Amino acid sequence: MSKEKQTILIVDDERLNIDILGSELGKDYHIIVAKNGNQAVTRIENNTIDLVLLDIIMPELDGYETIKLLKNHDQMKHIPVIFITSKQEDEDEAKGLQLGAVDYIRKPFNLPIVRSRVKTHLDLKLKTDLLEKMVSLDGLTNIYNRRKFDEMLDQEWKRATRAHTPLSIILIDIDFFKNYNDFYGHTAGDDCLRKVARGLKLCINRPEDFLGRYGGEEFVVLLPNTNAAGAKIMAEKLRQAVENLDIPHSYSPISAHVTISLGVAATIPVEPHDSGISLVESADRMLYESKKKGRNQVQCSEV
Ligand code: GH3
Ligand code: MG
Ligand code: MG
Repeated sequence: MSKEKQTILIVDDERLNIDILGSELGKDYHIIVAKNGNQAVTRIENNTIDLVLLDIIMPELDGYETIKLLKNHDQMKHIPVIFITSKQEDEDEAKGLQLGAVDYIRKPFNLPIVRSRVKTHLDLKLKTDLLEKMVSLDGLTNIYNRRKFDEMLDQEWKRATRAHTPLSIILIDIDFFKNYNDFYGHTAGDDCLRKVARGLKLCINRPEDFLGRYGGEEFVVLLPNTNAAGAKIMAEKLRQAVENLDIPHSYSPISAHVTISLGVAATIPVEPHDSGISLVESADRMLYESKKKGRNQVQCSEV
């Protein structure tokens, strides 16, 4: 498991609570603090947080409202939240747990108990993160898999719909890969897939851009905030990168080395009930055009 320190966000409007919890937990974990709910959301947006210790009674946005915000947010809803509060009633605790908190600690707190409960949930978070990573990656190429792509497409489609920003998809298919397998063997075919994946990955520079293995010898790139013109440039860069790998392919009728065909589709999603599937279908049609027009090229459609 990772040796990097995990990060706890302590949210409390009382400086003294922050200081006591921070100096104790700071021995083992990285600590970030916020004085109210709004600050907490900003901190979570700008940092990777593994656990939130959340006060309930705070000015403006209280703890209950804060956790509701977090649990409604795709990127934040998986972060475990523990309430640490002076609200003593069972109903308060029941409400906190119903809203999605993993634990509820009453003030005045006992530091060893807080430490142990925090450790339990952070150890669990490490395991969950590891599992999440394992189910998201393709075993052969070590890039993201189809399952993760479907999840990202859904997420980015919703985000682009809300923000009225463009979203692009590039579908990529290796040319004459059946020939490659037939003549060089399946193991060499697997090696080729790994090399192509690595070559494509080197072209992905923005943190929000996504590359995954879509199926057998097909790859997919998801480009948030990118219009057709931008996606076309990216697709051409990918095509060139695979050519530059210079993987010999003596059995390709069109080239001496491995090449790819690409289909690009771009849109600004407007219909919230619609989904990214139509965009994938458009990219697939463009990929088919690339194949038909001779392969080793990019075809683009603006939806
Ligand atoms: P086209 O240029 O039209 O795309 O032709 P193609 O031969 O690439 O297309 P086709 O879909 O007929 O062949 C895809 C081949 O990819 C067939 C299959 O054996 C191979 N393949 C799919 N997944 C894997 C894999 O994981 N490893 C290896 N080695 N080969 C794979
Ligand atoms: Mg194919
Ligand atoms: Mg192919």
